[in-house]
Amino acid sequence: MVSAGDLKAIHKTYEPPLVGEGDGARVLRFIGGSDTGLPTLDPFLMLDLSSVKLPNGFPDHPHRGFDTVAYLVSGKKLHEDFKGHKGELNPGDVQWMTAGRGIVHAEMPASFDEPARGFALWINLPAVHKFCDPQYQEFTKDQIPDYKNEENGMSAKVISGDVFDVHGPIVSKTPTYLLDFRFATAGTKYDHKIPAGWNSMLVIFEGAAKVQDTDAVLNSVNTAVFEKADVEQVIRIEAAAENTRVLLLAGQPLNEPIAWKGPFVLNTPEELAQAREDFDNCKNGFEARASWNSEIKNLKFGRTEKQE
Ligand code: MN
Repeated sequence: MVSAGDLKAIHKTYEPPLVGEGDGARVLRFIGGSDTGLPTLDPFLMLDLSSVKLPNGFPDHPHRGFDTVAYLVSGKKLHEDFKGHKGELNPGDVQWMTAGRGIVHAEMPASFDEPARGFALWINLPAVHKFCDPQYQEFTKDQIPDYKNEENGMSAKVISGDVFDVHGPIVSKTPTYLLDFRFATAGTKYDHKIPAGWNSMLVIFEGAAKVQDTDAVLNSVNTAVFEKADVEQVIRIEAAAENTRVLLLAGQPLNEPIAWKGPFVLNTPEELAQAREDFDNCKNGFEARASWNSEIKNLKFGRTEKQE
């Protein structure tokens, strides 16, 4: 008899491969594509952790049909899009972008010396939202609520979802948990409930941890992916080192067909071909592309005053 509070089964644990992306960047890819640990984890299409400095980066590129989330861990990152939206991300800041029917943007590290280290997550949109207007939800570190347990030194940045009575600010079209846990001391345990039917995973990105009462120590950077279940079950994290950080990601599967090529993720081959045509011909959401090039993509040429 299964009851709420039972531990989820571990589907697999693995170290993500380093793959090439953007302009000269290399990223640890947890989800996305056949050469990674997992092709997809519905509703998640891709999860990367990268550490990138100039001249490398992610110059002008489009998206259609999903959300892209950037969560910066260290360094500084700049972004700019073809609708005139631009800004910077500092450590702990989140940019949750709904690409909807189309966005073209650039994402570049700000420095030749200090890498911008952070997560990039693609969350699929349900068919009903794939052609919505592009929109942003942006929160600086100070605007993201903290959960703090003074007794055991555990804390969490609650971006999307809840940790006890602390609620994340993101309103996601695809129900998603995105939580950044910190454990000050080894041995601290925490249980997080995952709703029935959801996919879930975690990434140990500093320190080390054990999961689900197993003895295996997962060092940074490792991931554990859990089995879906038809009842609510629990992910149990036990820090195995001081200053351990764990990103927990969970989401409600869409269970819709996926037609995916590069930066376009639709439901049918016809919609996918249309996305390419719309992009190439600057229409149906890509109009602004005709007269736009980002300024920040030129940062790669800019090594001047800091040079000795
Ligand atoms: Mn992008």
